[in-house]
Amino acid sequence: MARHFDVLVIGAGSAGSVIASRLSEDETCKVGVIEAGHVPSDPAIADPLKWTMLQGRDYDWAYRTVPQPYTANRIHEWPRGRIVGGSSCLHAMAYVRGHPSDFDAWKEAGGEHWSYQGLLPGFIRSEAFTAFDAPTRGRSGPLDVFLPDDEVSPVVRAYIAAGNALGIPPLTDHNSGELIGTTPNSLNIRNGRRLSVADAYLTADVLARKNLTLLTGYEVEHLAMEGDRAAAAVCVVDGVTQRVSADRVVVCAGAVSTPLILMRSGIGDPAVLKQAGIDCISERGEVGANLQDHLLALGNVYRSKKPVPPSRLQHSESLMYLNSENLSDSSGAPDIVLGCVVAPSAAEGLSAPAYGAAYTILCGVTHPTSRGRILLGGPGSNDRPIIDPHYLETDHDRLTFRKALKIAREVGRQPALDEWRGAEALPGLDVQSDAELDAFIAKAASTHHHPAGTCRMGMDQDAVVNSDLRLNGIDNVYIVDASVIPEIPSGPINAAVVAIAETWAALNRA
Ligand SMILES: Cc1cc2nc3c(=O)[nH]c(=O)nc-3n(C[C@H](O)[C@H](O)[C@H](O)COP(=O)(O)OP(=O)(O)OC[C@H]3O[C@@H](n4cnc5c(N)ncnc54)[C@H](O)[C@@H]3O)c2cc1C
Repeated sequence: MARHFDVLVIGAGSAGSVIASRLSEDETCKVGVIEAGHVPSDPAIADPLKWTMLQGRDYDWAYRTVPQPYTANRIHEWPRGRIVGGSSCLHAMAYVRGHPSDFDAWKEAGGEHWSYQGLLPGFIRSEAFTAFDAPTRGRSGPLDVFLPDDEVSPVVRAYIAAGNALGIPPLTDHNSGELIGTTPNSLNIRNGRRLSVADAYLTADVLARKNLTLLTGYEVEHLAMEGDRAAAAVCVVDGVTQRVSADRVVVCAGAVSTPLILMRSGIGDPAVLKQAGIDCISERGEVGANLQDHLLALGNVYRSKKPVPPSRLQHSESLMYLNSENLSDSSGAPDIVLGCVVAPSAAEGLSAPAYGAAYTILCGVTHPTSRGRILLGGPGSNDRPIIDPHYLETDHDRLTFRKALKIAREVGRQPALDEWRGAEALPGLDVQSDAELDAFIAKAASTHHHPAGTCRMGMDQDAVVNSDLRLNGIDNVYIVDASVIPEIPSGPINAAVVAIAETWAALNRA
């Protein structure tokens, strides 16, 4: 017999875990969550130091981009979690809300709920932050936000001092309303272990609720549409097709999978759908468009004069957000980011010293203006999608990146790092002219893993979802995940995704 729920959540990742947990607080609401992956069983997931090793394991969707002309024609690996907890089981655990002004564009797109002030109750509700008290911080939410102190690497301490010597101000943490400055990263770590969003929200107590059902190993092929409504999610379970129906469907499959599910359901740009062999039943030209991501250049690598002690956190311990025009101005939103990794971190194809013999200063652009697109590679869920982020396509992105690399090197050569700094291994001292720097960036730029925006919210008729995050043109389908983000915020986006889900759930509880 087909299962039926009041609300069906597709995807138990960052957003889906929040939605399922919050909506099922109402005992009268029968909530189903379907997830292609399974409950985590790999012990490496919980170990913060192992996060880079998880990519490519059987709980990674392991997407890949098409070759990118402005990054030396490279194909970029895009890991995404296929597991309960989604990409928060693979992520680097950095917790950064973004700069308050990042959300001005969201307010313009969707109204007051999506401004920083509108999202603030969601940020607060989600957080368990105890390092200090502040009215804008949550103490008793499900998601631990840990601000390290003694655990911070001495190399990172020296990099922070190097930034301060250049006039970059110290910052208490990334999430107190200002973003520019030096601070260790805040992390989703509890008692030394990764805390995925599912660990935080889909606890044993929550999963024991009689009105909540988690179905794992259910891969949604498409939504079966009847007129203006989704009648059911059509899933493949152990090779067998099953239908799961609901009054309301909330798609939380993430910025790559959500537009793919819509397109396979006949919702999208008719020309794109036709090419993939799918009939269009609801014309929505922007499904899959507006793709945004952050890049980091891996990296400005330095040999170390003495052995680099292993990180006690997650290697990449301190993102430093900056105004490249005035390093001591902390008043607004940043335009570039640096990061200190307590290890050699080089893009594929670049050679770096051995682990323990080097450290890295990463750099990147916080507000890229290049926009890409995701297309179907064919009609079925086994057809590889065509992911084209259009990396570094705009002059803005390439010029800002060049500034970021110059500033990374300036930080790297400060006396505060004398104790550690040996020779510069990458880009290497022969790389000096703008053309040489650009050529290095093209080879070194790698995803910071923040794809977003592929089902953007907006009040205009071309937007994919409206300000309630309801899919335009369809009555009972909502999208709540990284794909609705109209413009990518300055930093890593998991905190913002959780706040979107908290906010939507608060507005949509019965
Ligand atoms: C390697 C890596 C490092 C990162 N580092 C950071 C960081 O340090 N800080 C930070 O803030 N962010 C980081 N991110 C990004 C962050 O994890 C994501 O932005 C966030 O988890 C996205 O949440 P989401 O709910 O949109 O999607 P996801 O968490 O990806 O959830 C989508 C869920 O839907 C499921 N799903 C997809 N398709 C289907 C289908 N057809 N049927 C059924 N289920 C489906 C997936 O299996 C998954 O569980 C990182 C990401 C990665 C991969």
